[in-house]
Amino acid sequence: MHSLESRSVALDKAVFVISLDTELAWGSFDRDGLRAYERYYSQVRSVVERLLVLFQRYGIRATWALVGHLFLRSCSRDGADSHSHVLQPSYSWYPQGWLSQDPYSSVETDPFFYAPDVVEMILGSGKNHEIASHTFTHAILGDPECSRDVALSQLRESGRLAREKGLELTSLVFPRNSIGHLDVLCELGYVSFRGLERNWFRKLNSTPIAGRFCRYFDKLMAFTPPCYKEFTCYRKTAVQRWLFDLPASMFYPPFGGLWNLVGLSRRVEQAKKGVAQAVRNKALFHLWFHPFNLASSPLLFEGLEEVLASIDDQVQAGNLESLTMTETALYLNSRLEPDT
Ligand SMILES: [Zn+2]
Repeated sequence: MHSLESRSVALDKAVFVISLDTELAWGSFDRDGLRAYERYYSQVRSVVERLLVLFQRYGIRATWALVGHLFLRSCSRDGADSHSHVLQPSYSWYPQGWLSQDPYSSVETDPFFYAPDVVEMILGSGKNHEIASHTFTHAILGDPECSRDVALSQLRESGRLAREKGLELTSLVFPRNSIGHLDVLCELGYVSFRGLERNWFRKLNSTPIAGRFCRYFDKLMAFTPPCYKEFTCYRKTAVQRWLFDLPASMFYPPFGGLWNLVGLSRRVEQAKKGVAQAVRNKALFHLWFHPFNLASSPLLFEGLEEVLASIDDQVQAGNLESLTMTETALYLNSRLEPDT
């Protein structure tokens, strides 16, 4: 167990953060996702393109948390492009092995497992956005069966691939929001991660059914999402950078299944309440979703545009700033009292 020093710091201005878990097939292969979501995955590239246009239109600085394997153009089991040096998690609940679905082919053959073109698309749309990590193969870092060595190896490889593109990875979105190995993040120089949403039903999540019911009910009622004024940061030794927990405020849900009960206007209303709350309290409103979620209905783009337009209005009025996760963390860092 690696103990971390922690501190807290308050925000003194309203900030909007949007983080996008970009994983394609890596996000759901262990849950038979290729079958369930294939028609959505096939639209992810056009969704990303449309999102980039929207972000540009409204001056939004987004944080794209990418699975590292998507940086690859191809891979093979033991050829020159093998990634056998990267440690993979081994979970008793997934006995097939974490790479059992890796096609060991290329982006041309399996575009849901490789996406260097998506990385280029994001990089090509200007300097507004941050590329963040989502581990190398969507490893569930908070699972007790995921060792520290696996976490370190996964993040090192993601970092190496990003550096080849001239990028430094300094923010992490944990796959499945499963938080673990913060000391590894500190060691590698990360400055932020997306923490858990501190909603009113957090304590009810102990039973999955109650938690699920509350998630839908919360959206149906469009309750004001949690916005954050106080932040916790961590570090292992005084030479390391502070790592900030930037908790989620709201998931922008797809359509399909029970989510169909929640109309578009409810989602938009909830997000706008979050924006208003952040402005009122000089706090953080942190929205997130997966790009493939938006493939479930064209309505979701309309709703998102309405939200982003209202954010732009607040930014223009000088009431709010749109920042990436790393920019938010660095700002908070500047507000820390010097060490005594
Ligand atoms: Zn591979």
